[in-house]
Amino acid sequence: MKIENDFNDYEAIGDDHIGSSSDTPLRPDAFELSNADKIESIKGDVKHILETLGLDLNDDSLKGTPNRVAKMFVNEIFGGLNPDKKPSASTFDNKYKYGEMLVEKNITVYSTCEHHLLPIVGRAHIAYISNGTVVGLSKMNRIVDYYAKRPQVQERLTIQIVRELQEVLGTEDVACIIDAKHLCVNSRGIRDIESSTVTSEFGGKFKENTKRRELLDYIQLDTQF
Ligand SMILES: [Zn+2]
Repeated sequence: MKIENDFNDYEAIGDDHIGSSSDTPLRPDAFELSNADKIESIKGDVKHILETLGLDLNDDSLKGTPNRVAKMFVNEIFGGLNPDKKPSASTFDNKYKYGEMLVEKNITVYSTCEHHLLPIVGRAHIAYISNGTVVGLSKMNRIVDYYAKRPQVQERLTIQIVRELQEVLGTEDVACIIDAKHLCVNSRGIRDIESSTVTSEFGGKFKENTKRRELLDYIQLDTQF
């Protein structure tokens, strides 16, 4: 039921929004405030946190921090919440009649864990099999970046990327694998610097073992950070 509600809420937010990427739990009034108003409000909140921690915000090094953090939240690391920022869906005809899978490996992922607001850093590998439509290679990087720039959980990010490409390409045959480090695991809590998290979403033909195997062979999962 929760997902259904989010779907309806998110649907109401932007004309251009594609409903299948509706899982981010946004409120219906998410974009009523302008970015400038959001920055101003968050600035006060960050100031409050730092002051509560006992810091002196008159210090030259700290006094710009609330403004910097607020701008970074709204314009950069959470800028992908806004449907207006979604990469345009320009596609091309598959003139070469290339019918095998296309794999875009090692796309850099910078996201933020929504449970701790700490970075998620890693690589995404995306594959699709064209049914007549193709997208520019950089489009895949842009789609990853757009959904990564939200408070995220890695599973949702993986699914959102696949759904978006399925919509854009008009095919189910899309897969995404993300291998990422969560700083909330690496730098605090259990403090395991070596561990990384792998998530995958296999659509259409990628559910078949042979296609999945082929994709994994291309990727070889030897990503170095
Ligand atoms: Zn976390």
